[in-house]
Amino acid sequence: MFSGRTDTDADRQDLETLAAALKPMSTWHALTTLQTAREACGGAGFMVENRLTSLRADLDVYVTFEGDNTVLLQLVAKRLLADYGREFKDVDAGGIARYIATRAADAALHRTPLHRALQTLADQGDARRSVGQLRGAEAQRELLTDRVGSMVAELAAALRPATRASRADAAALFNRYQHVLIETARAHAELIQWEAFTAALATVEDPGTARVLGWLRDLFGLTLIERNLSWYLIHGRLSAGRARTVTSYVDRLLTRLRPHAQDLVDAFGYAPEAVRATITTGIERERQDEARAYYRSRRAAGTTPVPEKSRTA
Ligand SMILES: Cc1cc2nc3c(=O)[nH]c(=O)nc-3n(C[C@H](O)[C@H](O)[C@H](O)COP(=O)(O)OP(=O)(O)OC[C@H]3O[C@@H](n4cnc5c(N)ncnc54)[C@H](O)[C@@H]3O)c2cc1C
Repeated sequence: MFSGRTDTDADRQDLETLAAALKPMSTWHALTTLQTAREACGGAGFMVENRLTSLRADLDVYVTFEGDNTVLLQLVAKRLLADYGREFKDVDAGGIARYIATRAADAALHRTPLHRALQTLADQGDARRSVGQLRGAEAQRELLTDRVGSMVAELAAALRPATRASRADAAALFNRYQHVLIETARAHAELIQWEAFTAALATVEDPGTARVLGWLRDLFGLTLIERNLSWYLIHGRLSAGRARTVTSYVDRLLTRLRPHAQDLVDAFGYAPEAVRATITTGIERERQDEARAYYRSRRAAGTTPVPEKSRTA
C-alpha cells in the first residue's frame, strides 16, 4: 500500500483511514507508556537527566497536531458508516427483509439468556474450560470483530433519521452520538492492531519466541475484552462464567510474562546512545545496593536508630 504500486483512489482512501485509526492509538499509547515509566522510576523519573519528562513534553502535542486524535477517529467512524451504508445501497426489498430478520435473530440469540446459557452449558461451570474458550485467537477475533460490527450497525440505526432531518437537527443528532462514534472508531482501530499482531505472529519461526509473543497477543486481546466487559455482558456475548475468567486469565498471563519483560523491551534494540538516561546506566542499582549494604551493616552492628513507635514510655 505504501509503495504506490497499486495507487488507486480506493487504495489512497484505505491508507488515509488506516493512518487516521493508527495515529491516535500510537500517540496516546506513547504518552501512557511514558507516564507509566515515569511512575515506575518514582522521583528519579522526574529528573531531567532521565529524560522521561522531556520526552513527554515533546510527545504531548502529537495527539493534537498532524490531525487531532479525536477528529481523526471521527473520520474513521464516518468511513465505517459509509462502508456499512454502501453494503445496503444496492440491496433490494428482499435483501432488507433478510437483513432485518438476521438482526432480529441476532438480538434474539444474543440479548436473551439463551446465548449465555449455551456458553454456560459448554463450559459446564468449569473455569478452566471457560479460559480455554477465550484463549484461542479465533475466539478473541470473534469477540472483537463482533463488537465493532454491532457498534457500527447500532450507530447507523441511531443516525438514520439524520438523512431526512434538517441540517440543524442532523447536526444535533450527530453531536448526541459523538462519543459512540469515537468509541466505535477506537474499537475498530484496536481490532486493526490485534489483527496486525496476529498476522506478524504467524511469521515467527522460533517456538519459544512465538509462545511468549502469543501470550503478549492474548494479553492485548483479553485486556481489550476486559475493558469492555460490561458491553459483552449487556449484549449477551459472554456468559457471567466466561466474563469472570477474563480477569483471572489476564492476571495469569501477566505472571507468565513477567520473567520475559526485560527481553521484550531489549527486543526493540535501543542502545545506550539512544536511551541516554542516567538511570539505565546501572548507577541506580549501584546506589540501591550501596544503601542496602549500609543498612545491613548497621543492623549487624546494632547501631540502627530505634524507631520512635517501638519506644516504650
Ligand atoms: C507545536 C505545533 C506545531 C504545529 N505545526 C503546524 C504546521 O506546521 N502546519 C499547520 O498547518 N498546523 C500546525 N499546527 C496546528 C495544528 O494542526 C492544530 O493545533 C490542530 O489541528 C488542532 O487545532 P486547534 O489547535 O485549533 O485545536 P481545536 O481544533 O480547537 O481542538 C481543541 C479540542 O477540541 C476538540 N475538537 C476540535 N474539533 C472537534 C470536532 N469537530 N468534534 C469534536 N471535538 C473537536 C479537539 O479534539 C481538541 O480536544 C501545529 C500545532 C502545534 C501545537
